[in-house]
Amino acid sequence: MMQYNSGDGELKNWLVTENDFDTRFQGKCETIFCQGNGYVGMRTTTEERYINQVRNTFVSGTFNKFDEYDVTELPNAADVSNIDIRIDGKLFGLDKGSFSDYNRTLSLKTGEVTREFIWKNEEGKAFQFSFRRFISFDDLHLMASEIDIKALNQSAKIQFDSGINGQMTNSGVQHFHEGEKRIFDKKFLQMLQQTTHSKITFIHNTVHSVTLDGTEVFSRFEMDRRKVFMIYSSEVKADQTIRFEKISNIYTTRDKNFEKTTLEKLREYSILQLKTACKAGYSDLQLLSAKTWAAKWDAIDIKIKSNNDFDQLALRFAQYHILTMTPAHDNRMGIGAKGLSGEGYKGHSFWDTELFMLPFFTFTLPHIARSLLEYRYNTIDGARKKAIENGYKGAMFPWESAWSDEGEVTPVWGAADIITGESTKIWSGFIEQHITSDISFAIWQFYQITGDEDFMDKYGYEILFDTGIFWASRLQWNVDKKQYHINEVIGPDEYKEHVNNDAFTNYTAYWCIENAIYFYHLLKTSKHEIFSRLSSKLNLESEIKELEEKLPLIYLPQPNENNIIPQDDTYLTLKDIDLTKYKNQEHVGSIFLDYSLSQVGKMQVSKQASVVMLMYLLEHKFSPEIKLANYKYYEARTLHDSSLSLSTHSILASDLGDRDLSYNLYQKAANIDLGKNMKSSDHGIHGASLGGVWQIIVCGFGGIRMVGGKLRIEPKLPGEITQMIYPFYWKGNLLEVTVNHNSLLIINKGTEPVSFTNSGKNYRVDSNSEIKI
Ligand code: BGC
Ligand code: BGC
Repeated sequence: MMQYNSGDGELKNWLVTENDFDTRFQGKCETIFCQGNGYVGMRTTTEERYINQVRNTFVSGTFNKFDEYDVTELPNAADVSNIDIRIDGKLFGLDKGSFSDYNRTLSLKTGEVTREFIWKNEEGKAFQFSFRRFISFDDLHLMASEIDIKALNQSAKIQFDSGINGQMTNSGVQHFHEGEKRIFDKKFLQMLQQTTHSKITFIHNTVHSVTLDGTEVFSRFEMDRRKVFMIYSSEVKADQTIRFEKISNIYTTRDKNFEKTTLEKLREYSILQLKTACKAGYSDLQLLSAKTWAAKWDAIDIKIKSNNDFDQLALRFAQYHILTMTPAHDNRMGIGAKGLSGEGYKGHSFWDTELFMLPFFTFTLPHIARSLLEYRYNTIDGARKKAIENGYKGAMFPWESAWSDEGEVTPVWGAADIITGESTKIWSGFIEQHITSDISFAIWQFYQITGDEDFMDKYGYEILFDTGIFWASRLQWNVDKKQYHINEVIGPDEYKEHVNNDAFTNYTAYWCIENAIYFYHLLKTSKHEIFSRLSSKLNLESEIKELEEKLPLIYLPQPNENNIIPQDDTYLTLKDIDLTKYKNQEHVGSIFLDYSLSQVGKMQVSKQASVVMLMYLLEHKFSPEIKLANYKYYEARTLHDSSLSLSTHSILASDLGDRDLSYNLYQKAANIDLGKNMKSSDHGIHGASLGGVWQIIVCGFGGIRMVGGKLRIEPKLPGEITQMIYPFYWKGNLLEVTVNHNSLLIINKGTEPVSFTNSGKNYRVDSNSEIKI
């Protein structure tokens, strides 16, 4: 069904193709061919309708909460992707008649999706169909599609029903009030809709042009509840082609650029924009978007020579999707765990952003990393609210985040428990607290890599202090041990709930406190103005005193006699079961077919990287022996039931010298969405895993790492990959690394010298020069 080698020449390793169509597997390409530009994202659902499809259009940051029993989610906006085609009065569909030469392709290079096939109806009339569509990266509000239908052997009456459909829901939840519907100049359709609770008005505009041999085809206008439509119909003779073109745009009252614009003015403006676009037409608009894509690729493309071409394709696929899902245009918004590609996780941001996707931005597009971290700063009031509600101080970031001031939005009830039959309570929103450290860590990492002082002065230091303050207030004194513990949490391994002293949580909390103390003293002597502003805002003098008193008394789980750091207080005492069956599973989560979550909680089995994740983040704190022992121990017990897990294990395997295992885990990660499993992406793309794929390539195989503030370049190419050339920024200087199995070349295209280590030795590469190792 999926084909990975359809691109030749200039397009080699840029195309992903679906070469057959089966209504059972529509979710696959709806998701993995999803188009977007960070402002708007749309699943690539076929123009014609079938049962089992999911049609979604999301505009970043337009969250709505249906009622008090629901959580905030990104609403599924009115749709323009559906186009009903009738041939001789009968609705066209590939499930009728017969089809051949089917091909649907996403170009990662230009963001365009094309689809072609020959279709014969039950009466033996044959047609050649070809579809094209894109969402513009040049004009974030714009999207367009084009359809050519050629009658191959006999004439037929061809009809298109197309417009704007506001009858969409999120799996049944209708997030909008119906708004005004209009038509201008007999062809520009406009429909308004307003979210029920957050009161964001969406303006949708659409215009069509349908021609047969250059002559406009007759049309009729129709309106229905929440729908505005045009109907075009014409007799098409054998050998003639009817061309259908549809150009649409979306604006909302949440758009940052139009905050001060009245709705009336925005409506007028949006129609004017559509009129201009309409004059340019599909092809020119698509070229403009492709040009913007080209500029993006220039900045981020990595050249991989591998025995498997798939490696290059998979990396580009990851980068393509991360760019389409990231609201780089607006620092009031974060990235959803599934981007804009599906309803899964409701558009909420998790630690997926900071620890999995952000490094790609921090190293290659730092201004976007900054915008994403500014989003977290914008949510700090919600985080402070959450801390107070829970009896703590400082900033306690929500496990799931949406509106900047809303705080926690994790749903409370989940799927039914196989044993009790009752809904399971989702504890993450209450006790999965490591997100606060993850954000703090990402800020520090961003600062070390970019050296962006302005960001730190305005936002960064405040978060570093307030996360340290939170953790200090969260510590619990254990009278017997005379230590501070952190009890009742979920660590990154979500198969263990209500645990005490989760290693990841304790170590990273310690790190936050230690870091806050460090920067307190640094600022006090070096940045008086910022120091005094933050000091009075956060009451730093007394808070930091408390942090300093508590820090040495925090319990950090230590390695046992076998060098294993216990994942939490009880993990190593739980029973070990034979996991072979689940390790070789075809679908994730298969252990729940046999056991309930509480039973799994009593076994030494992990959903995802936890101690191993810790050793990746704070790598300089653990010796190679400890890393190796823990890696082996936990890899054997980790099911990788979360897609976030594989990349971390792959990078650690690289570090520890197991290049085969590292490559093997990389392939698994790269296949999660792009691979041949036709059901794994139904609810949306796995954004964190895609960020992880980039990290495996650059931080694992490419060996780029910021360790304790310093740059290390220590590539570990697996056997299959013979060469990689990749760019990254170090403190504003663009470096290009070329690595193969026996040499390493680093070119500094920046303006300052850059120092780094390789195999324990120090090197320096001056500006506009290179160094070969
Ligand atoms: C995830 C949690 C999440 C919850 C609700 C679960 O599947 O593992 O991290 O908070 O869904 O969205
Ligand atoms: C994982 C979390 C992750 C969430 C969203 C869950 O299944 O366990 O670590 O943040 O999915 O991707």
